[in-house]
Amino acid sequence: MTTLYITHPSGLQHIPPAGHPERPDRLRVIERVLEHESFAALARDQAPAAPFHRIALCHPMNYIEAIQEASPTQGLVRLDADTSMSPGTFEAALHSAGAAVMAVDAVMTGKVANAFCAMRPPGHHAEKSAPMGFCFFNNAAIAARHAQNQYGIERVAIIDFDVHHGNGTQDIFWADPTVMYCSTHEMPLYPGTGAVSERGEHNNIVNAPLRAGDGGDEFEQAFESVILPRLRDFRPDLLVISAGFDAHLRDPLANINLLEPDYIWVTRKLMEVADECANGRMVSLLEGGYDLQGLGRSVAVHVIALMRG
Ligand SMILES: [Zn+2]
Repeated sequence: MTTLYITHPSGLQHIPPAGHPERPDRLRVIERVLEHESFAALARDQAPAAPFHRIALCHPMNYIEAIQEASPTQGLVRLDADTSMSPGTFEAALHSAGAAVMAVDAVMTGKVANAFCAMRPPGHHAEKSAPMGFCFFNNAAIAARHAQNQYGIERVAIIDFDVHHGNGTQDIFWADPTVMYCSTHEMPLYPGTGAVSERGEHNNIVNAPLRAGDGGDEFEQAFESVILPRLRDFRPDLLVISAGFDAHLRDPLANINLLEPDYIWVTRKLMEVADECANGRMVSLLEGGYDLQGLGRSVAVHVIALMRG
């Protein structure tokens, strides 16, 4: 069974202010890396735009329309301190959510074993009714709800190893016992949420914060002692990964010191859970990762692991 790589050129047309770390070159470096012959066996597809009713699985329709209406015809519109829209942003956000939906469809119908989506804008800071932290629509949350809505599966686990806490995903599933959200992230750090004491209404939120200076040992410990046992108890029917690579040693936005072998390790551990509980079904969505070299290398080893290489 193959691994599917999904992207779309609209991801390059979401243009941030000068000097912003969440920039189109992030997708260009991934595209270049995945052209290597090591990835010849990847299936490849282009993400469609997600229809509004799919995004509305997680966001109120008036929020979706407000984002659309905020879209500028020229120049930039700033929605919060670090979240701006260019004329291409709304279309990119629709395709970013559409990639997540397409990945779920391909995995749930058994066309592919698993899928990796390299799109931007990312999603995990987007709350039900608020854009935030470079994010507009919560792609991982949309993937989870689409899998339940379209394919009738009961339990979805979202595992988020981006260095920032996915406050948006936590917000959306806070009171939903059918979705478990598990996160490792640096604390204290933006956005400020993600304490161990934040557990959700049904004990379905699992936060395992790391401290500045932590590296692979502490990361593996968080998974071995906290996240992996909780995942196995939960027995998800699908795993969705919020795959941010900004916990990499080289990343400029945080101070966790992961290296490529740590991303191989966590990918394989999550695939073990997927094999045990979910017939291998896993959808991985790009979130952060702002050092181009660290991002390219980390995505490469993540995708190789997904391909069981
Ligand atoms: Zn991040």
